[in-house]
Amino acid sequence: RKPIIAIDGPAGAGKSTVTKQVANKLGLLFLDTGAMYRSVTLAVLREGIDLRDRDKVREIAAKSKIQLFANPIAGKPMQVLLNGEDVTTEIRTPEVTANVSSIAAQAGVREILVKQQQMIGQTGGVVMEGRDIGTHVFPDAEVKIFLTASAGERAKRRQADLIAQGQVAPDLATLEREIQERDRKDSTRDHSPLVKSEDATLVNTDGLSIEEVVAAIVNLYEQ
Ligand code: C5P
Repeated sequence: RKPIIAIDGPAGAGKSTVTKQVANKLGLLFLDTGAMYRSVTLAVLREGIDLRDRDKVREIAAKSKIQLFANPIAGKPMQVLLNGEDVTTEIRTPEVTANVSSIAAQAGVREILVKQQQMIGQTGGVVMEGRDIGTHVFPDAEVKIFLTASAGERAKRRQADLIAQGQVAPDLATLEREIQERDRKDSTRDHSPLVKSEDATLVNTDGLSIEEVVAAIVNLYEQ
């Protein structure tokens, strides 16, 4: 297969923007795996079932058809279809964001989505972004990056993202609390917690421009 670049890290570290630009620069595909967990979360919320009902949640994950398309407009997130319906905006609402970690913590859901991600990436030539790409989805990825930034910086970026997407953005203190809570849940879950793969390159993006981060990753890839 062709090479794979795995980009993992906590919420708001700039993964989406960086992933997309790296992919464009190198002529590779890119995949935002968080959008897949968000889509399953939306499907579960719509069914109105108890989020802790693992069997039902798994069933919903299994029957959800998720399709991802590169958005032709620069800086816009991937277009996401859930069972044929465009849910690009809806998967970013505060309700989905607040519940996605509980859904992503369930082994049944991860098993289904990881398999789909491995299928999508099987021929390589892809930059894949998430929490467990370098540790679980593609542990043999040629380039592994763990992208992070301080909580304050990440809250600022999240706010800018939300505004760019035309959403109502909470104040920075609220966003910082939400981000830290989500990171705590993502890092302490039993299945594929968010951890830096030993062989991943740690990139702290505080004070770095997007261009600098993208250039650093492209450089690692070309070495
Ligand atoms: O990247 P994003 O913030 O959109 O991801 C939403 C959530 O999906 C994360 O907080 C995490 O709970 C889950 N996720 C995951 N594994 C991935 C990608 C996302 O558990 N590979």
